[in-house]
This record gives sequence, C-alpha cells and structure tokens, in this order.
Amino acid sequence: MKKSACILLLVLLSHFLLAQPAHQVKNLKITILSTMLAQKGMGEWGFAALVEADSVKILFDAGSHEKTVLENSKLLNIDLSQVPRFVISHNHWDHTIGWMPLRNEISRTNRQALSVTHVGKGIFDTRLTETGGDETKMRQDSALYVQSGGKIITHASFAEISPGIYVTGPVARKYPEKNYDQRWQKKDAAGKTVADIVPEDMSLIILTAKGLVLLSGCGHSGIINTITQARDHLQQETVYAAIGGFHLLQNSDEQIRWTADELKKAGIRYFMGAHCTGIEPVYQIREWAGLKRGESVVGSVGATFDLVKGFTPGALAR
Ligand SMILES: [Zn+2]
Ligand SMILES: [Zn+2]
Repeated sequence: MKKSACILLLVLLSHFLLAQPAHQVKNLKITILSTMLAQKGMGEWGFAALVEADSVKILFDAGSHEKTVLENSKLLNIDLSQVPRFVISHNHWDHTIGWMPLRNEISRTNRQALSVTHVGKGIFDTRLTETGGDETKMRQDSALYVQSGGKIITHASFAEISPGIYVTGPVARKYPEKNYDQRWQKKDAAGKTVADIVPEDMSLIILTAKGLVLLSGCGHSGIINTITQARDHLQQETVYAAIGGFHLLQNSDEQIRWTADELKKAGIRYFMGAHCTGIEPVYQIREWAGLKRGESVVGSVGATFDLVKGFTPGALAR
C-alpha cells in the first residue's frame, strides 16, 4: 500500500475509534440500605446504597453503625457476598463506620466480596476533632482493609470504573455551594491546619440512554458542581435522576431555588433526597423543578430507583 493511502487509513481508523459512543448502562437498579427514614429495617443518620448496573454490583458507602447495612440487606434479601466492590464517597463516620466490619463479615463467605474500594484523593488526610486532636480512623481502617487482602483504588480525577459507570473523583468547586460545616479543619501535606472542604468528596455517575444518573453520599461538593463535572466529561447534558444525600438541610430558600432551577435546566426527572438532604428541600425541589409526587421523594431504607419503573419509595414516602 502507498504511504499516503496508509496515512488516510490510519486517520479514518482514529476517527472511527474517537467517534465510538460511550457505553450506556441498560438495566439499572439502586436500593437504599442506610438512611434516616425506615419503614422496614433500621434507620440511622448515615448512608449506603446498592447499585446493580447490568451485571455490575457496587456497594456505595457503608452506613454509620457496624451492622446496619448488613441487617438491612438480609431483610431485603440482598446477598452482599456477590458484591465485589465499594465506592466510598468521603471520610465521614456516617458513611464509613460499616466499611471494615462489612468487609470482615462478608469476606468469610467469599474472599473476593467487597475486596476493592474506590475512594477520592484526600480521604485519608488527617482531620481535626472538635477538641483539636488528630482524627486518623480512615487511615487505620485502610491499613486493616489492605491486610484483609483488600485493594484500595484512589482517584484524583474523573474515571470510568466499569463500562458506563464513573466516579467523579474530587469535584471542582465551580459554584459557591458550601454544603459542609465551615468550621471543619484538616491538616495539609505539610502538617499545617487548613479549612476542611472535604476535598475528596466524590459521587457515582451512571451513563444511560435517558441521561446521567447521579448517586451522592453527602453532597459536600454541591450537587450542581458534581453534575457540572460529570457533564464536562461525558458530553451528556441531561441529568435523568439524582439520588442520595445532598446536604441541603442548612440551605436558604434562595439557594434551594437556584439548585432546583439548575436541575430543571439539566432536565431532571427523578430526585430522591435521602440522608442529609433535609425533608423540606425535597418538596421545594419537587415544586421548583416542576416534578410530580412520586418523582421527588424522601429516601428510605429499601426504596429503589429503576431505570424503567422510576422510584418505588415505600408506603411512608410515597
Ligand atoms: Zn459528610
Ligand atoms: Zn453524611
């Protein structure tokens, strides 16, 4: 073949490869395993949810008591021994207390269960307690996790962890959403005390034909900052569903109005505010984003989101 024809072929091939559309998840079910509201099982100040996306299973966050996710899973007939991975959204105790106990308990049945954990860069940084002491529990747990045969994958940026399933990595704080306590402090790499904006806070993003589905732990990065990061990386403008904790409980009406307006612009169809979202913000978002009853609900233990059926919120939240 002539050199020019060869180059043309290579150019065409690279165009073809670049034009390959991103993989879209076809079947998706998300089940809430830890949050405050519970009709069946135990409620707690915490968060965890099981993601079943095509053949992939991920446990997102681990609850705030050692046994909550374990017991609620049994009650809901969910077999965690078939779940190979965790995604842990951020360092806070209400998402991480169950991490090592779950790994220890479930790996007795299957060594490979919950043996990989995805986290955002900064999660193991030293935090300061209210009395000024060093908080290093996550770092201690990470050593135990590795000792147990577990593998930790730390993400410094947006990454695809399975076809069509992404972690945002630490989220750029483009908009002034400050959905965290501004008194929190941490130590930087040089050991100096600095404000703790929870830099590692990351969410899970699932790409579907209907748009993006966002699963958030506490939403400290801000829901709009988080979807902005996902949209920038995925060339998908529509946010079909947002589920999880969004830490809107201390926001003013104006801030929630802005959030609802941005979600409406993004084409949101389903909103489930669990954990630290706050109850009233769920209804404000329902009204201001133009959603109906059943489309914007308070998350409860056992509540599900299905790509085809939408929410099954449970009788109490319906
Ligand atoms: Zn938190
Ligand atoms: Zn939380």
